[in-house]
Amino acid sequence: MGKYKVALLDADMTLLDFRRSEREALVKVLAAHGLPHDGGVISAYSEINDSLWKAMARGETAQAALVVERFVRLAKLLGSREDPEALNREYEQGLGREGYLLPGAMEFCQRLRDGGLELAIATNGLPAAQWGRYRGTGLDRVVPHLLVSVELGAAKPDPAFFDRALDKLGITDRSAVVMVGDGLETDILGANRAGIDTVWYDPERKPLSGPAVPTYTAASYDEIRALLLG
Ligand SMILES: [Mg+2]
Repeated sequence: MGKYKVALLDADMTLLDFRRSEREALVKVLAAHGLPHDGGVISAYSEINDSLWKAMARGETAQAALVVERFVRLAKLLGSREDPEALNREYEQGLGREGYLLPGAMEFCQRLRDGGLELAIATNGLPAAQWGRYRGTGLDRVVPHLLVSVELGAAKPDPAFFDRALDKLGITDRSAVVMVGDGLETDILGANRAGIDTVWYDPERKPLSGPAVPTYTAASYDEIRALLLG
C-alpha cells in the first residue's frame, strides 16, 4: 500500500471516451433536426465547446450559460434558426445514453480498488450526462462515488469543488488523497489550489504548459497504478 488511501478520478478522457460520446450524441440531435452532421460540423462544435469550457475554467463564463452558448454558436455557424436551448437539452439527454469506457479503464479501476484505494469520480460534467454514463458503463459497480460539479455547486479548478467533494466523502486528511486526471487547467490546477497531490494522465505525452504543477505525470494506466499502489 502506497501513501494514498483515496483516489479522485476525473471522468472524461481519463476513464470515459468523451470524444466518442460527444460525436454520437451530437450526430443524433443534428440529424433529428435535419441539420448537417458531417465530420467538419462535429469538429467545429468540438472546438466551440472546448474553448467555452476553457473560458469557464478561467472564470469567464458559468456552466449554465456555456451549455446553451455552444449551441447558439453552432446554430449560427450552420445558419439554422433551431432553438439552442432545445438542442442542448436533447444533446445532454443523448449524452447520458452514449457511454463508452476508454480501453482498459474498467480493469484500471478494479485494480486500484483491489489494491485498497477508496475511489470516487470527480467530474465537471453535467448531471444527466455523467450519471447516465456512470451507470451505463458499469463504472458504478467498481467506483462507489460520483461527484458532479453542478451538484456540488463548484467546478474544478475552484478549490471549493475539492473541499465539498472531500466533505461528502468524510475525508479530513488531504495528504492521503490524490487527484488523477487529464486536465491541467481543471484537475491538476484545482487540486494544486486545494493542497491535494496529483497524477496528470497524459497519454499523448503533451508538454506541460500553464500554471498547473502535477506531483506526478503518467502516460498509461499501468504507470498510474504503479505510482498509487507502490
Ligand atoms: Mg478530463
